[in-house]
Amino acid sequence: MDKNDKHKIKSQKLKEKVDANVEKATIERGIVLVITGNGKGKSTAGFGTVARAVGHGYKAAVVQFIKGTWDCGERNLLETHGVPFAVMGTGFTWNTQDRDSDISAAKAVWEQAKSFLQDPKYHLVLLDELTYMLGYDYLPKDDVIEAIQNRPENQSVVITGRGAVSELRSIADTVSEIKDIKHAFRAGIKARQGVDW
Ligand code: ATP
Ligand code: MG
Repeated sequence: MDKNDKHKIKSQKLKEKVDANVEKATIERGIVLVITGNGKGKSTAGFGTVARAVGHGYKAAVVQFIKGTWDCGERNLLETHGVPFAVMGTGFTWNTQDRDSDISAAKAVWEQAKSFLQDPKYHLVLLDELTYMLGYDYLPKDDVIEAIQNRPENQSVVITGRGAVSELRSIADTVSEIKDIKHAFRAGIKARQGVDW
């Protein structure tokens, strides 16, 4: 048997396997997708999913639990497509040292997140950097988990951020971990507009 025949048999077998799995997937409902890990690309992937939803004419909403920079390319674009953004008010960033004010900012934006999670008109809700709110105990875990689980059946939720706690992983349908292999920043290259925000 030559290389081409071998390849043909191998891909035929693979196709049968994939087709069988596709047939098995019959459930229609929204999912919870967690994108975690230390590598770059979590928020980018979350916003990519929002772009997909909007591109198909669905409604999507974005909640940003950490404001990295005041300027946000995705927000500039998506707001013009009717995507509402809820952003942590007093500006929780890596620099704040005031736990109490961070907690009240977290709670305020969480109330907005909850209203999106109760509204069936949203096909997709992005909870960007939510993981830290649970990691630091800024928001009550039970309340967050319950709101996500009780969302409308056809709504999907994307959660990003490093160190997703086990409770988030267990309610998720899909969990991806982005691995940090190397990052330009560590070679002294400045974060770039239009690439990093
Ligand atoms: P992005 O928003 O680019 O998709 P991210 O959401 O995966 O990144 P965050 O942990 O939210 O990563 O980090 C926010 C900022 O830190 C971004 O500007 C990102 O480029 C940068 N960053 C992400 N990963 C790393 C890393 N491993 N080392 C240094 N900087 C990083
Ligand atoms: Mg991010």
